[in-house]
Amino acid sequence: SPPADLQTITLPSGKQIQVHTHLFINNEFVPGTSGKTFETINPTNGKPIIAVQEATEADVDKAVAVATECFEKVWKKVAAAERGKLIFKLADLIERDAESLAILEALDNGKSYKIALEGDIVDSVGCYRYFAGWADKIHGKTIETTNDKLCYTRHEPVGVVGAIIPWNYPIMMSAWKLAPALACGNCIVLKTSEYTPLSALKFAELVKEAGFPPGVVNILSGYGSPTGAYLASHPGVSKLAFTGSTLTGRKILESSAKSNLKKIQLELGGKSANIVCADADLDEAVKWTTAGIFNNHGQSCNAGSRIYVHESLAHEFIERFKKEALAIKVGDPFHEETFQGPQISQVQFDKILGYIESGKKEGARVVTGGARWGTVGYFVQPTVFADCKDEMKIMQEEIFGPVVSIATFKTVEEAIERANGTSYGLAGGVFTKDLSTAIRVSNELKAGTVWVNCFDLFDQQSGFGKELGEYALHEYTQVKSVKIKIDP
Ligand code: NAD
Repeated sequence: SPPADLQTITLPSGKQIQVHTHLFINNEFVPGTSGKTFETINPTNGKPIIAVQEATEADVDKAVAVATECFEKVWKKVAAAERGKLIFKLADLIERDAESLAILEALDNGKSYKIALEGDIVDSVGCYRYFAGWADKIHGKTIETTNDKLCYTRHEPVGVVGAIIPWNYPIMMSAWKLAPALACGNCIVLKTSEYTPLSALKFAELVKEAGFPPGVVNILSGYGSPTGAYLASHPGVSKLAFTGSTLTGRKILESSAKSNLKKIQLELGGKSANIVCADADLDEAVKWTTAGIFNNHGQSCNAGSRIYVHESLAHEFIERFKKEALAIKVGDPFHEETFQGPQISQVQFDKILGYIESGKKEGARVVTGGARWGTVGYFVQPTVFADCKDEMKIMQEEIFGPVVSIATFKTVEEAIERANGTSYGLAGGVFTKDLSTAIRVSNELKAGTVWVNCFDLFDQQSGFGKELGEYALHEYTQVKSVKIKIDP
């Protein structure tokens, strides 16, 4: 019989979809200990979609306890190749149920269904497959010391990993953390964002179907405080992986320092700059920089929200940029042609409109947009500011919305210095036909990822910050060195 927590939601089209509403602990959907629930809101119209169970401290304790027991008694003993097989199976199931997952992403987050289906879900499947392949290729070294010793290292799982994710890419952000964590042999307690709990609960069902032992993956819906904060300070959690705001990142570091000094991995905000040089291919530069800011409604940590364009190109660049921005189809996430849906919440909507007002007040020129879109839901017009000065708030602070700030420059050196002039350092881009300029700028930009003549291109292999790619494996393992004395 189907789990008791399954409820039916009717979509605007009349189509129905079933969703889980309980917490996922030990491969079972269970109600929260406190009996509390919270409503998740449809950002397209501001109305509640459904109420889900809220995890509180007692549920975190429960999830960490089963994850710990599973790790010690079961998961640790499962062969690496077997782990890989389970992750491959999970990827197949996500692929099979891509439509349901994409529907839940569109409903809960407001992103385009088509983009969720063809982007977020496809990339998440790729991420699980990539790390599934790694599962049996994670190993240490044999180290030569002296003749009377043998020394080797083991890359061991850390144990129980806590993961706290944001609302901007619910399935993908969980994939970026769960896939490497599982490949390395860890058990997981994932807390989803209070804004977007639904797709992860569908995903939970697939974890069980794939055949993961109970306790390997546990998924909690709940708020940052108390649930996220309690998970971050939990002594039973050996590592905490977090994506979200800088403010919360700081709190998480503090709670690690005050609790068990757990390993912390933070992916925080950005104010990424694109530098468009005088010799850039203008068509390409416009194509990538518009996508760089407007993808996912500007709600990406790596959004290219500042653009430095060489003064000789500025007029033409801004005109073309405006045309692209005006051509963006804003509206219902379920409409085939929609590129931009609503922002996630009233809070974000208000915050973005506040930044737009500050840009106007500080003297930036509104090229297009500059207001809400429509009258219902959290939609914001794609907004382009020109004549921006570095000290303006819209050039310094992360807006996390479809708002770009364009400034001009005279020399590449000046552009580099100004691009590096914020407190962020997540990503950046450069557009030029000159190889030396491309390399020089990439070397000089203080950023974890630099794109040349493109933006926002992701590969599982190449990594982003500390996530994805081979480097991610280091985040979910600890190195043990073993020294053996050899009797003569
Ligand atoms: P947030 O940092 O508050 O939330 C992210 C996650 O952290 C959520 O799961 C939340 O429940 C949890 N959380 C909140 N407080 C916590 C705490 N004290 N301890 C542990 N977990 C906690 O972000 P937000 O409020 O959703 O968004 C605010 C701003 O953060 C945005 O405007 C944007 O600038 C930034 N943001 C960045 C990303 C990113 O991908 N880097 C994602 C979302 C938001």
